[in-house]
This record gives sequence, C-alpha cells and structure tokens, in this order.
Amino acid sequence: MSQTQSIATYDDNNIFAKMLDGDIPYHKVYEDDKTLAFMDIMPQAKGHVLVIPKQKAVDLADLEPEYASAILMTAKKVMAAQRQVFAREGIVQMQLNGSEAGQTVFHYHIHLIPSSIHELGRHAVTQADNAELAKLAQQLAGKIIE
Ligand code: 5GP
Repeated sequence: MSQTQSIATYDDNNIFAKMLDGDIPYHKVYEDDKTLAFMDIMPQAKGHVLVIPKQKAVDLADLEPEYASAILMTAKKVMAAQRQVFAREGIVQMQLNGSEAGQTVFHYHIHLIPSSIHELGRHAVTQADNAELAKLAQQLAGKIIE
C-alpha cells in the first residue's frame, strides 16, 4: 500500500467539493486562499466546525505540505474563536482517515469540537437547527483574528 496516496480516488461530486464550487450552501466561519471553515450540519457538540483545504485530498495521505500548513493555521484561528465564543478551554480536534475509521465525506477535513472527549455526541447523526448554525457561524466569524 502506498503511504503517500489515499486508497480511495477523489470524487469531484463529494459534498465538500460542491461547497467549494459554490453549488451548495453552508454557514461560513472563515475562508482564505487555501482553506475554508464552516459549521458542521450534524454537530457532535454546540459550535462544531469543519476546516477543509482547497485541495482535492481524500485523506491525510493526499494532503500537500502547503495545504497541511494552511489548514492547521486556520484551525488555530477557529479554535481561538471557539474558546472566546463558548468561554471554554476544551476543543477536541478530530480527523478520520478512511471509511474503516468512520470517515463519511471523502474530502480531507479537521473537526474542531468544543467538548470533552467524554461528552461528544454521536458522529454525523443529528441535524442542527439552521438558524442556530447561522447565528453561531456569525459569532465565530466575528472573533477570528487574522
Ligand atoms: P467525517 O465522517 O468524514 O469525518 O465527517 C464528515 C462531517 O461532515 C460529519 O461531521 C457530518 O456531520 C458533516 N456533514 C455531512 N454532510 C454535511 C453537509 O451537507 N453540510 C455540512 N456543513 N456538514 C456536513
């Protein structure tokens, strides 16, 4: 097995690719030339954010160094905003590689979840209220420091 490429082939029609193409809506928290951060539609805790690279990467194996660096810098900005908005220290950073690990969307992404690891809700199960997500995205976006 190659260690430098994911097992799955990148599908241009995956849901995050469609977001990057502007084909489906999302609640944006932050965007720059290499990354996009938005609210998870089925959060495992209030304020669950996803950060994705603007690179066609299925999982970590595909991620190019410049995008790996950029996505972590964006994750730091989002986490700082989450700590302010939710007035808490604990932010779970999670990232699943491959369906065996539970990955359900095959465009690389980092989860940032304001929660204790012991209190996480179920993964990708319960849809959040759209208006609530919009409000949280706005609050978080307002606290991002470049
Ligand atoms: P994975 O299982 O690949 O690590 O995580 C995929 C994440 O994407 C899940 O947490 C799931 O709730 C989220 N998700 C799935 N479909 C959508 C969608 O259409 N919009 C948003 N914002 N999040 C989604």
